[in-house]
Amino acid sequence: MSDAPIRPEGGRHHVVIIGSGFGGLFAAKDLKNADVDITLIDRTNHHLFQPLLYQVATGILSAGEIAPSIRQVLSGQDNLNVVKGEVVDINIDTKRVTTQLDDISRNYEYDSLIIAAGASQSYFGNDHFAQHAPGMKSIDDALGLRARIVEAFERAEITEDPAERERLLTFVVVGAGPTGVELAGQLAEMAHRTLAGEYTNFNPSAAKIILLDGAPQVLPPFGKRLGRNAQRQLEKLGVTVKLNALVTNVDENAVTYKSTLDDSEHTIEAFCKIWSAGVQASPLGKMVADQAGVEVDRAGRVLVNNDLSLGEHRNIFVLGDMIALKGLPGVAQTAIQGGEYVAELIAEEVEGRSIEEREDFDYFDKGSMATVSRFSAVVKMGNVEVTGFIGWILWLGVHVMFLVGFRNRLISALNWGLNALSPKRYNLATTREQLLARTALARVAEVDQIAADAPIDIARQLKAKVAKKK
Ligand SMILES: Cc1cc2nc3c(=O)[nH]c(=O)nc-3n(C[C@H](O)[C@H](O)[C@H](O)COP(=O)(O)OP(=O)(O)OC[C@H]3O[C@@H](n4cnc5c(N)ncnc54)[C@H](O)[C@@H]3O)c2cc1C
Repeated sequence: MSDAPIRPEGGRHHVVIIGSGFGGLFAAKDLKNADVDITLIDRTNHHLFQPLLYQVATGILSAGEIAPSIRQVLSGQDNLNVVKGEVVDINIDTKRVTTQLDDISRNYEYDSLIIAAGASQSYFGNDHFAQHAPGMKSIDDALGLRARIVEAFERAEITEDPAERERLLTFVVVGAGPTGVELAGQLAEMAHRTLAGEYTNFNPSAAKIILLDGAPQVLPPFGKRLGRNAQRQLEKLGVTVKLNALVTNVDENAVTYKSTLDDSEHTIEAFCKIWSAGVQASPLGKMVADQAGVEVDRAGRVLVNNDLSLGEHRNIFVLGDMIALKGLPGVAQTAIQGGEYVAELIAEEVEGRSIEEREDFDYFDKGSMATVSRFSAVVKMGNVEVTGFIGWILWLGVHVMFLVGFRNRLISALNWGLNALSPKRYNLATTREQLLARTALARVAEVDQIAADAPIDIARQLKAKVAKKK
């Protein structure tokens, strides 16, 4: 490991940004003309438009359309350097960020630090559910899910056991927020429309799509009227919506839930289970909060100051899904506006403006939207509520506008147009690696753990064997 801290030559103010998601990307872009050097660190090589992951999972879009290379997105920015690596440590006393890329470790020294590392799926203390009900947070997740959905239909074609076929054709989505609703809607369209007539031994319309949530309505933040509207649309598509249903177990074969109304327990046998119910902020938040003597909430979000800074460390900013501030929602706009706000503060302060002159971060709520199916979406903008086709047109406009890159906007709009007119989907290719990678990686982690727990000489032998095979 190299211990020497890295900072760009020339001695300009050095801004280190962790995360090339919405917060990190918008902060980086808005610092383009500032008198600073920027190091943007991410463990992936892309900017991910998470709201459209479900469209990759269900074969409408390809991965590239929602995940452009971050180097290409920011290629015209001379004051910026992109680094691929997992941030494994932040030391706020020495002002160092440590990254790891496989066995290569590096330290970066910052003057200002922007932490926009997002959130992961939360299983509310039941992390073992993750093995059988993966969430959808990354391109890997979406491609793995696509492979599993397609695999379910392919296995249903060759099985001779009717009970097994029913299990294969049952899809359970846990969590009736926007992601769960959008995914359930698209699964239903896939089964009833895209795959209709494509199999010999069964009718894909027989697939059951079940949406579970512990809350009494779908899309709780959208309010009752829009929630009811979305539920009706889903039911029209053939989705079974089960509310007041708290999931108590997930295993390889089934999901078990308990009704919060009468405490009855129910088990649904299903091959494909998807978790979209809850988020946990990146552990980097707690790491810096502990050092600064700042609290985090139950979801690991940092209780930042009104200027998004961390306690007395006014040069460290936390953004987006990682913050708990005045009940701001964990949505793209919170991260985007936060990134733009922090970039402006830094740019002005390197020009000599005093920290004392900072104004509070003022979030502007631009509304929320979710598509239920082709031609149907629910949209809430302040007191204005829009549903159906007009809602879908609004959804289309906003997503075309916010996707990164002209090509991606064009190709996605073309795909949505084709998808509206034709039942076919053009991104249904799946690979064995996509299907098996999750399980394989879990096994590798298990072996690593066994090696770590084993007596030192056995661990050494195990490691030597693995290294030899590499
Ligand atoms: C499936 C899904 C659907 C959604 N739908 C909507 C929607 O319809 N509308 C809406 O407004 N919002 C939606 N959201 C929420 C929205 O995407 C997030 O609020 C937004 O992405 C938060 O931005 P961020 O910059 O805080 O984090 P992110 O965009 O998540 O970016 C975090 C970045 O940090 C990187 N990172 C994390 N940890 C490390 C580390 N240790 N080292 C290096 N890099 C790291 C990640 O690779 C990632 O690139 C959705 C989210 C999901 C998952």
